[in-house]
Amino acid sequence: MTDHNEEMKSRRFIIKAGALVAATAGVALAGSAQAKVPQKGVQYVAKSVKPNQNCGNCSNFIAPNACKVVDGQIAPTGYCMIWAPKAR
Ligand code: SF4
Repeated sequence: MTDHNEEMKSRRFIIKAGALVAATAGVALAGSAQAKVPQKGVQYVAKSVKPNQNCGNCSNFIAPNACKVVDGQIAPTGYCMIWAPKAR
């Protein structure tokens, strides 16, 4: 009987430890989900060469000079490879 009790305690410990690891991983993932992409990674340029495609009319642009996805200062005249039209 003692062996059985020890085994059950051990199993409970493993389950609790597993839950703790999963919770910690979830927090880490949530933190990284907020990290932005570097400008070089999406070929950001401060002056767009695409007609009618610039940060100012991109759905990710946050006026006056930021982006939901790309890190750093973003000019409304800029452009990058993940440009997406603003919903009308
Ligand atoms: S084009 Fe859009 S996604 Fe790219 S940097 Fe400008 S606002 Fe951000």
